Amino acid sequence: MPQRYICPTRLSSECSLRFSRYIIDFVQNKSLHTTPRPRSLMRSVLRRIVLAAVLVVGGLTALAYSFIHTETQSRLLDNLSDWVIERARNDSLIFELAQENLARFSAEFLRLYTSDVPVHGDIFWSYYQEDEHGAVRLRRDFYDGIYADDGLYYSSVSSFVGNNQSVDSVDLQRRLVLSVRLLAQLGPAMINRFQNIHVSFPENAIALYAPGTPWGLEAEPDLPMNELGVIRSMQQSENPERLPGWSGLYYDETAQEWALTYQVPLDMNGQHLINPSHDVSLTDLMERLITDTPEGGYNLIFRQDGYLIAHPAEPASDRRWVGQMSLQNIDDPALVRLFELIDESTGGEPGEVALIHNSIDDNWLAVSELSGPGWWFVSVYPAALIRESASQAAAAVLISGVILLLLLIFIIGFIIRRDAEKPLEQLREAAESIALGDYDAVAQEQIKLPRHLRNEIGLLARTFYGMAVNIRGAQTTLEQVVAERTRALETANHNLRELSLLDGLLGIHNRRAFDRDLASVYEQCKRGVGDFYVMMIDVDSFKLFNDSYGHGEGDLALKEIAATLNSAIRSDDRLYRYGGEEFVVIFNSGLEEPIESAAERLLNAVRNLAIPFPESGYGIVTVSAGLVRGCADYPSSEQIVAHADRLLYESKRGGRNRLSIETQTAS
Ligand code: GH3
Ligand code: MG
Ligand code: MG
Repeated sequence: MPQRYICPTRLSSECSLRFSRYIIDFVQNKSLHTTPRPRSLMRSVLRRIVLAAVLVVGGLTALAYSFIHTETQSRLLDNLSDWVIERARNDSLIFELAQENLARFSAEFLRLYTSDVPVHGDIFWSYYQEDEHGAVRLRRDFYDGIYADDGLYYSSVSSFVGNNQSVDSVDLQRRLVLSVRLLAQLGPAMINRFQNIHVSFPENAIALYAPGTPWGLEAEPDLPMNELGVIRSMQQSENPERLPGWSGLYYDETAQEWALTYQVPLDMNGQHLINPSHDVSLTDLMERLITDTPEGGYNLIFRQDGYLIAHPAEPASDRRWVGQMSLQNIDDPALVRLFELIDESTGGEPGEVALIHNSIDDNWLAVSELSGPGWWFVSVYPAALIRESASQAAAAVLISGVILLLLLIFIIGFIIRRDAEKPLEQLREAAESIALGDYDAVAQEQIKLPRHLRNEIGLLARTFYGMAVNIRGAQTTLEQVVAERTRALETANHNLRELSLLDGLLGIHNRRAFDRDLASVYEQCKRGVGDFYVMMIDVDSFKLFNDSYGHGEGDLALKEIAATLNSAIRSDDRLYRYGGEEFVVIFNSGLEEPIESAAERLLNAVRNLAIPFPESGYGIVTVSAGLVRGCADYPSSEQIVAHADRLLYESKRGGRNRLSIETQTAS
């Protein structure tokens, strides 16, 4: 509680102000102490915004996370599929080319075979010759390079007929020669990416276009080629459907290459004529299998019947079993499981691409069929990598979301701080200052208000500022009015005080003034500061005057006497009405004029008035007086007056109209 303030009876401006402050203090303290301090607006608004933002941004981020995770996974799988399709397409090119080449070769051969191109004994032997072991071979020149009689240029062509095979058949001779011619004609264009192009026969014979490999010249004379598995598989008995054949992958020790043979059985009217064939080098394909893999994954190739064609197994020597091994013979359950899963999921036909999830080994299999041999190119990709990649992409969204959230909170916090909290804080300070009655601080802008803002807070601040200025103005005016009134009051009081010291009838100082002044000069005199005289004056026989001329005349006479006495005293002396028709004068000492003459002058002044009074002994109004000197011998001021009164009485007794002066001091 503020200290209680009690105003004295007499009002003053200071008192009014202090009283007002007491009231304000009381109200303010009451309100401040009963109302809890408000919570921070910024914090509560921020808390709500953060909550809402966390819900919205968090929810959206979670959605985005899930969406991006799914999207990324599906994109990565799409990429994997596309890659496998493209890869299979590229790897199939060589097989397709082989198919195209041999189809064309077959067509050309049939065209020649059915034409009337003559091939008889002499012509045949101009191409072939029998060696010392009874094997029939194309002459060496055809390999080394020769323009033959038929006008064709031969090079890199060799041919061999085993010594167990008769060449007496004109048809065989015709097929051999026509094959050799076609090889010379088409071989250079068709060899391109193949090891060779050759023609095998149902008989034990073969013809090749194979630059760098004079195979027909070097083959063992008794080699039973048509009994070898690859060529035999083209026999009508072995291959009644007459389907083109892809051999298994084998490692060509001579060429140090992975290869396979593609051959097409060519029949006419039920007769098996020839098997145009390509030996296809797959070294590049095998290398790519290992080197060109999706990052983190690996590739392998199966044959439809469950043979493993290619696998990135190390070391290199182990590759030898690749392409030759049935899965039953490979001690690798994961590999077997893989094949079975593909076989089961695709029904044995993966087509352009099949995407299979291998949940046991947690990987994805992208399978595409290589056209030609119908192999399955399989790319194995760990599912964990896809999940990880998807998680990373989604995590980036999550982090962006969190950063966005923090940024949002910072910006909102900054705006609230700048546009709301700080201005409100200024308003609060201003309100507190006003509550304490300090309008100046606001009106003179010691406390800044956000008046520049164009929003409601700015409007409030301007209103608040205007209010403070107005109240301050009103307060100043009030203070001025109070000060003026106080001054007037003080003047009135002074006048009132003066008035109370005057005699109403005679206009001179009254008995109260005399008592006050006497006490004062007496005290000073006692302290040794100056000296004084007291002179009691009484109008002689005034009762008689009244009786004779009435009170009205008496009053007039008294007024004249008072005025005369007043003008007769010196400026330092003072005249008082002591009561009734009695006066008293206090003379200051230290005067140039002797006190006796000053006192006598007063009596004379009344005499000189010459107010007619025939009934008295002197014919005019007179006064009697007693004069006493100062404080020296009197214990109190009253005794001075009493002594003066006694002297006055003496004057009366002595016949009136005279002055009695102290001749002895009072005891
Ligand atoms: P003494 O010479 O012995 O003083 O005789 P006195 O008649 O003057 O004395 P006394 O005390 O008997 O009478 C005083 C008279 O003065 C009586 C009274 O009516 C008169 N008086 C006192 N005051 C006033 C006044 O204000 N006006 C008038 N007219 N008369 C007054
Ligand atoms: Mg008297
Ligand atoms: Mg008298």
